[in-house]
Amino acid sequence: MNARETLSKYHLKYSKQREVLLELLQNSNEPMSVDDLIEQLRLKNVSMNQSTVYRIIDHFCAQRIVEKTSSTLQPKHFYAFIRSDHHHYLYCQICHTHIPLDVCPMESWFKSVEDTHGFQMTQHHIEIIGLCAECQQKISHSN
Ligand SMILES: [Zn+2]
Ligand SMILES: [Zn+2]
Repeated sequence: MNARETLSKYHLKYSKQREVLLELLQNSNEPMSVDDLIEQLRLKNVSMNQSTVYRIIDHFCAQRIVEKTSSTLQPKHFYAFIRSDHHHYLYCQICHTHIPLDVCPMESWFKSVEDTHGFQMTQHHIEIIGLCAECQQKISHSN
């Protein structure tokens, strides 16, 4: 599904700005910050001011097309397109890389929670923070 189709699926009025932003988020493997988005827009020669980007992204979040994630370690928020095959990320606190995990680490535990409570989970959020392999190396070499 392309960005334009996603907009119509969620009954959102089409605008070029919405389409471009959604396209960036949909095509990205990593969550993106507003700064990342503005940088990508600049590369595409699309001019959009920061408040417009925020307004559109907030709207996507309200419609549950995009998920806002924040890290306790960083003031920045990151935004990710919500896929049916959702991903979790390992977040490096030094270089700020997001490393996607192929599987949901909590899936079997969540299933048992659902069974126990007769609850249907529609979304969940896991924050995993640490040091990536490269940053660990750099640290051990600098000592
Ligand atoms: Zn790192
Ligand atoms: Zn999960």
